[in-house]
Amino acid sequence: MMRTHYTSEITSEDAGKEVVLAGWLHEVRDLGGILFLLLRDREGIAQITIVTKKSDPELVNKARKIPRESVIVVRGSVKAEPKAPNGYEILPTHIDVLSKAESPLPLDPTGKVGADLDTRLDVRFMDTRSPRTFSIFAVRHHVMLATREFLTEKGFIEITTPKIVAAATEGGTALFPLSYFDREAFLNQSPQLFKQMMMAGGFDRVFEIGPIFRAEEHDTTRHLNEATSIDIEQSFVTHHDVMGLLEELVAYVYEKVSERCERNLRTLNIELDIPKTPFVKITYDEAIEIARDVEPSLEWGEDLTTAAEKRIGEEIGEHYFIVDWPTSIKPYYSMPYGDKPEICKSFDLMHPKMELASGAQRIHEYGLLKKRIEEQGLNPDSFDFYLQAFRYGMPPHAGWGMGVERLLMTMLDLKNIRECILFPRDRRRVAP
Ligand code: ATP
Ligand code: MG
Repeated sequence: MMRTHYTSEITSEDAGKEVVLAGWLHEVRDLGGILFLLLRDREGIAQITIVTKKSDPELVNKARKIPRESVIVVRGSVKAEPKAPNGYEILPTHIDVLSKAESPLPLDPTGKVGADLDTRLDVRFMDTRSPRTFSIFAVRHHVMLATREFLTEKGFIEITTPKIVAAATEGGTALFPLSYFDREAFLNQSPQLFKQMMMAGGFDRVFEIGPIFRAEEHDTTRHLNEATSIDIEQSFVTHHDVMGLLEELVAYVYEKVSERCERNLRTLNIELDIPKTPFVKITYDEAIEIARDVEPSLEWGEDLTTAAEKRIGEEIGEHYFIVDWPTSIKPYYSMPYGDKPEICKSFDLMHPKMELASGAQRIHEYGLLKKRIEEQGLNPDSFDFYLQAFRYGMPPHAGWGMGVERLLMTMLDLKNIRECILFPRDRRRVAP
């Protein structure tokens, strides 16, 4: 190990101790008689103080010449200093430059010189050095970790399913084609069909956290062309059961993030309100009633527009479910109500600002599923591999899919979903 501590692991109580820190040269303040170097690592900042007259001239000279953002290792002793970050400073005996940064810098990680999101994404490796950006990804890690913990605790098994597929999950055209040897294949838009097949496969409860690909040409602040989805499927339950699981998961993730990411949340200036369960449920009919305030011409059977979602979100003001959707606007695998087949047992989980998840009780009966595929204008032959799983004992089941980036974006109140994924893929961006 080249370091003894992260900057955050030292306090004024370590005064007198010799330590070695490693990181980037965040800033230099040269006051003539005294030279402050700020060393930044993932966990924070430490002040390196050199009193020029009292120090080895070679060390002083060297320190003055290090370009900002170079990678340095500093050995020295700790001294209590109430005015420095974390209440201590380092009086260095050695400073080594492990990798010199060129100048000018493409981006200022101190945040003093602002940059637009596009510029930041062009040099993401530099952008993530800023404590704010890094904090988003530290929280993202904890969102995914807490999700895995929660689902594992509930008896779910993590699976991974292919991203290269032969057929669309839901029909339509929103797929990226690719050449697969001598035939055409696609990047999968959702693990839906595979997780359902594993219900016939006897897994009972599965989850997957993985990429989903959508070739839609939307250019919004909440759509990506490659997003990350948390998907679950569970046997012998109804849509109500998996809505209960979903709201519990969201509350658990908020709770764990607020416990485990205190420093990151402070950096991001966020105070998390843990959502109260159970979440409010409104029906699609109630939703369009509210939405007509802003969309008077909205007809029953139409999907909710962004403006409609916004209006309903304002009205409700916290996480909520929209249930009982028209069967015609939900995917073919959603289970229609027996006594009212024009609506189905599907739901959306909404944050006041946007949709977070969609789910449903699924059709588990072969004949009905095949009929629904045909009714939606799709060719059942291309779904043979999937339909077969419904012919030899398929339990009733339900599930949902929730976007990791949307969960993170709403949790941290970020304005653009591109902030929530390291290397966003959108209409204009395929590199870096
Ligand atoms: P929207 O109507 O908001 O475009 P959707 O209904 O098409 O979303 P679903 O197919 O229901 O999305 O996918 C389930 C979840 O996956 C969504 O609720 C969302 O959280 C996430 N998701 C889907 N598409 C995208 C995308 N293009 N970018 C980011 N997240 C997405
Ligand atoms: Mg949806």
